[in-house]
Amino acid sequence: MKYENIRKQVLEAILQAVDLGLINGTSGNIALRDDTDDVVAITPSGIPYTHMTADQIAIVDMNGKWIDGPFKPSSEVPMHTAVLRSRPDVKATVHTHGMFATIMAMLDEPLQPTTPPQAEFVPVRIVPFTMPGSDEVAQRVVETLGADGRAVLIKNHGMFCCGKDMKAAMSATIYTEEMAQTAYYAKLLGKFQPMSEEAVAAMKALIAADQAV
Ligand SMILES: [Zn+2]
Repeated sequence: MKYENIRKQVLEAILQAVDLGLINGTSGNIALRDDTDDVVAITPSGIPYTHMTADQIAIVDMNGKWIDGPFKPSSEVPMHTAVLRSRPDVKATVHTHGMFATIMAMLDEPLQPTTPPQAEFVPVRIVPFTMPGSDEVAQRVVETLGADGRAVLIKNHGMFCCGKDMKAAMSATIYTEEMAQTAYYAKLLGKFQPMSEEAVAAMKALIAADQAV
C-alpha cells in the first residue's frame, strides 16, 4: 500500500475520535501530511469510519487534488490543506462537530481554560460561519489560527485543531472540547472561574521550556 504510514495514522486517529464521542456518523475529518513527500492522507467523504481500512483513506496533494484511494476525499479538504500550506510547523489537522465546542462558539468570545492541560491550547478564537467545504471557510480558519494557533471554534459548525504531529493535533482536539464542556457547565452553575491570564501565561512558559529541552 502506498503512503501506508500516514494512512494508518489517520485511520487510528479517526477511530479514536469516534471512540471518544467526538465524531458522530461521518461528520468530522482528519488529515496528516507526509514528512518527506508533499502529500496528505485524509479521511474520505461520506463513508462510515467504524469498519474503514487504511487503504480506503484518500491521498491528496498540497492543493487538495485527489491522487490516490478508492473514495473521494473529505469535502473539507480545502480547510485542511490551506492550514498545512500556511503553517509549515503543522503536520496534522483535525476537524470535529463536537457538541460543546459547537455550543460555545455561539458566545462569540474566545474560550477560557479551567485547568492547566487546557491552557496549552489557548487562545481559541471564533471563526464566523461560512459554507462548509468552501475556500472561504478555509481562509477564515487560516486567518483565525494565525501564526501559532492550535484550535479555533467555527460558528454553527464545530472546531478545527492542528499540531506538529497526530498526537499533538488529537490532544488539541480532546482538550479544546473539554475546555468548552467545562466552561459550559461552569456557566450553568453560575460561577465560572477560568484560569487567570497570569496562570495561563505561566503554564505556557512552562510548556515552552519543557519543549525546548
Ligand atoms: Zn464539518
